[in-house]
Amino acid sequence: MSASAIVLLGPPASGKGTQGRLLAKEKMLSYFSTGKQLRQEVKVGSLLGKEAEPYLVTGHYVPDELALALATAWIRKVKGGWVLDGFPRTLPQAEELDQALGVDSDCLRALLMEGPVAELERRVTDRRECTGCPWTGTKVQAEAFGGACPSCGGRLGQRDDDDLENFRQRLKVFEELTLPVAEYYEQSGRLLRIWGVGTPAEVFKRVKSELA
Ligand SMILES: [Zn+2]
Repeated sequence: MSASAIVLLGPPASGKGTQGRLLAKEKMLSYFSTGKQLRQEVKVGSLLGKEAEPYLVTGHYVPDELALALATAWIRKVKGGWVLDGFPRTLPQAEELDQALGVDSDCLRALLMEGPVAELERRVTDRRECTGCPWTGTKVQAEAFGGACPSCGGRLGQRDDDDLENFRQRLKVFEELTLPVAEYYEQSGRLLRIWGVGTPAEVFKRVKSELA
């Protein structure tokens, strides 16, 4: 069986987003980042964004109902397989997702990206994103492009929540709330652990061999 319902788990800056997009491209799956979507909603000042903002700025997860509504609305629209980044992040969310998928939940695979904290901290301060498209890169790359996105021309900058204090808070929340999700998938034989240190291409090789 080749999994076509994939969820990505990992601490902040573990490379989930990058691997998720590579995987989606390779296997022709749809990709959705709940975190990126929420930050976008905050930026445009939507109702959802206003509700989510206080949680995001303090490094907390948005309430389960909000995350669930966002993710399930997206899944319903998608045709074919998918990769979800940033959902489920809590045990209730994982259980709700299984409920929503029914028998298809057997085919779900969860990838847990792992890496040392010092490496994650280095990445957080180095990470740059495009405001207009999914492009993600490093400070050096962003400077090489003169701060303009190579794929859409948008502005490249740091994510608002990418500072060390916010990172440490998000890491704490990840350990408390999301590691139980990994255990939940491990107990049902659906968890794949990926060592996330190395270049995106090196890590992606491990992802592909785990999923093969
Ligand atoms: Zn762009």
